[in-house]
Amino acid sequence: MNIALIAHDKKKDDLIVLVKAYAHILEKHHLFATGTTGKRIAEATGLPVHCFQSGPLGGDQEIGAAVARGEMDMILFFRDPLTAQPHEPDVSALMRLCDVYSIPLATNMGGSEILIRSIEQGDFESLTLTHNDPPPA
Ligand code: PGA
Repeated sequence: MNIALIAHDKKKDDLIVLVKAYAHILEKHHLFATGTTGKRIAEATGLPVHCFQSGPLGGDQEIGAAVARGEMDMILFFRDPLTAQPHEPDVSALMRLCDVYSIPLATNMGGSEILIRSIEQGDFESLTLTHNDPPPA
């Protein structure tokens, strides 16, 4: 699976805790991330991470484009609900595309743990559209 990892600045440490804790599962998949998040995760865990642009510079939109192309299977997006983000429109657009294409999206630690565990249990794929299915009209 292709999994995108994004964390706003005050949430990056939490995402690193998650990736370390579930590295035994995540290492079997292809990891993608916005620039700073990906750099931090790669440094902290040693896992290979494909880094897009930094979020405020277009990284969220790059991940959104990958969703629209059917190239992303899951998004773990640790949002900071207490800090205004200059790229809030990009954040909303990415979450919207996840809904358009029925891509699993978690925005906090609890939801992310459930999604990652569901990969391991193998009961994940049947709940989502396949890449070849068109989005609902
Ligand atoms: P960053 O971007 O990983 O480059 O910090 C995350 C974001 O704010 O969307």
